[in-house]
Amino acid sequence: MKWIPYGRQDIDEADIAAVVAVLRSDMVTQGPAVERFEGAVAAHCGARHAVAVNSGTSALHIACAAAGLGPGDLLWTVPNSFVASANCARYCGADVDFVDIDPATLNMSVDALERKLAQAARAGRLPKVIVPVHFAGLPCDMEAIARLARPHGVTLVEDASHALGARLRGAPVGSCAWSDMVVLSFHPVKLIATGEGGMVLTQSDELAARLAALRSHGLERAPARLERKDAGGWYYEQSRLGFNYRLSDIHAALGENQMRRLQAFLERRREIAARYQQAFAGLPLRLQAQPPGCDSAWHLFVIQPDPEETGRSRREIYDELRGRGIGVQVHYIPIHTQPYYRGLGFKNGDFPASERYYERALSLPIFFRLAPEEQDYVIASVRGALGRHRSPEA
Ligand SMILES: *Cc1c(COP(=O)(O)O)cnc(C)c1O
Repeated sequence: MKWIPYGRQDIDEADIAAVVAVLRSDMVTQGPAVERFEGAVAAHCGARHAVAVNSGTSALHIACAAAGLGPGDLLWTVPNSFVASANCARYCGADVDFVDIDPATLNMSVDALERKLAQAARAGRLPKVIVPVHFAGLPCDMEAIARLARPHGVTLVEDASHALGARLRGAPVGSCAWSDMVVLSFHPVKLIATGEGGMVLTQSDELAARLAALRSHGLERAPARLERKDAGGWYYEQSRLGFNYRLSDIHAALGENQMRRLQAFLERRREIAARYQQAFAGLPLRLQAQPPGCDSAWHLFVIQPDPEETGRSRREIYDELRGRGIGVQVHYIPIHTQPYYRGLGFKNGDFPASERYYERALSLPIFFRLAPEEQDYVIASVRGALGRHRSPEA
């Protein structure tokens, strides 16, 4: 059996043709493909505005900057995410703190958020931005998070890097129904690929204008947003400090074509997830809860084998599956336990639900082209890895 990664892109001939067409055209960056890609994602998600950038990390950064996050301010996210969900605050000179996860959904705990907000309000140290992360593609309870955070004037930025195509109570993630901005990533292991790429979605005209300026050095050209209105056709103003985070037309053409395939990608991921759920029922492992009203995009399929019942550590199971050619991964090492964040004062034990989850977590292969025989092999290997040291009557 060849190596089976935990995730990978699927590029077909139409994707390749779309990229080649850009290469043969006059504009390879900032041409029509970026706008078409933004339009396709905005339409799918029901967002008024979409601003494409060169990575999900850049998208998080300009979302924080557009929210006005700066030195002395505070951003909250969860420890169970990729480091970029927290680093975006540090780019803005702001401080980071974390809200622990719910051990069932593996997303931000609404109870922990409620307690932490009450404490922060008393201490006069409320966050300016909260970044809930839709872990593995499962939408957070945004309605509850918004109900708790809105009265404190918090800007909500959903990190939906895992969740393009997911739905919450029927609303597509990206519609900003309960938030100010939604961030997407198009890294090849995510739901659709542009190579590198990301996007910020919003319903706000003002935030969209700021995001577009931040993507390109902070430059503005729309007459209504200029200090000098009639200086000439060449005229622009730098109104704030921005970056060069532009996505090229080459990448955007790939993304636009991948959007046509999103439904097929999602359906296949759902099938794979359902098959794993069925195969693992009754085994000594825990699966991510799927609350009613939540329609996951299934970026990841995570199992948490119980070391007491199996008699095997996560390390042993990981090594055995890797030895069998299965590219299992661990998502995520809690951000606050990274040396950089420990250097900022966090320590092991600060967020016990994220740490307990991390000790057991394993992500199994889930991607469009995972063949049924490959999935059978993964299932049989997981069963073997869990069962080997159990007594027959266990
Ligand atoms: C992938 C990812 C990012 C960063 O996206 P890039 O496009 O790789 O910069 C941010 N947050 C989460 C949760 C991610 O999985």
